[in-house]
Amino acid sequence: MLPITLLMLVLHAGAIAALFVFSWPAVLSAVVLYWLIGGLGVGIGYHRLLTHRSFKVSKPVEYALTVLGTLALQGGPIWWVVTHRLHHASTDGIDDPHSPRNGRWWSHMGWILHGYTLRHDISNAEQYAPELARDRFQVWMTRYHLVPPVLFGVALFAFGGLPFLMWGLFAGVTLLLHTTWMVNSVTHIWGRRRFETRDDSRNTWWVALLTFGEGWHNNHHAFPATARPGFAWYEVDVNWWCIRAMQMAGLASAVRLTGVDAKATAVNDAG
Ligand SMILES: [Zn+2]
Ligand SMILES: [Zn+2]
Repeated sequence: MLPITLLMLVLHAGAIAALFVFSWPAVLSAVVLYWLIGGLGVGIGYHRLLTHRSFKVSKPVEYALTVLGTLALQGGPIWWVVTHRLHHASTDGIDDPHSPRNGRWWSHMGWILHGYTLRHDISNAEQYAPELARDRFQVWMTRYHLVPPVLFGVALFAFGGLPFLMWGLFAGVTLLLHTTWMVNSVTHIWGRRRFETRDDSRNTWWVALLTFGEGWHNNHHAFPATARPGFAWYEVDVNWWCIRAMQMAGLASAVRLTGVDAKATAVNDAG
């Protein structure tokens, strides 16, 4: 059995076990941590900043967001970025790591259990994430990406005992794994297509709510570089609100908004 499969089994068993140590403070802390890790770490850090460079931050801010991203147990920053840039380079094509055209189960979790990302060659990093491959901190974080989650688990246990550990890490991170994978599976299967992109990407409102805005995925594939894929006022994009707040606080600059005005020229908004 691949180590990744064992890790997934342990995480899912832990998420179920959390039900037996229910406590409201632990659940509320898990909700906050879900946002910190999923919104700031994965959505803003790994995705909009490291993969698409849709805004600029100082190195300390970039590294802090990166460490939050590692807590999601979705792999180190360089491999996450390489996988996602491969997805954009060949969306629903032959080299897409996780297209539903290769099976719905494959696109959601099968590709993870198969250890697909672990099979990346180092030359992939040099080709698809050269700027990260030259950054010693990002290389170190990628190599030791399990260190922050382990320390995080120890801290949770020390702070709130077993309920905080089971809810904050096992339940929260397992839920976040599935909602992140839904962006690969669900938003390439169900939802509305505003833009006639060459892939199967869709805007799926409930995935957007669960992922703080990452579910406006057809908008995202049409305009990957924008920091704000939630184009319309009703397209709730919490990650964009955070980037805007960071911009107003002087923490983010050069925020790219390509495509936000393109809604007016949308080809097809009927789904
Ligand atoms: Zn996609
Ligand atoms: Zn993307």
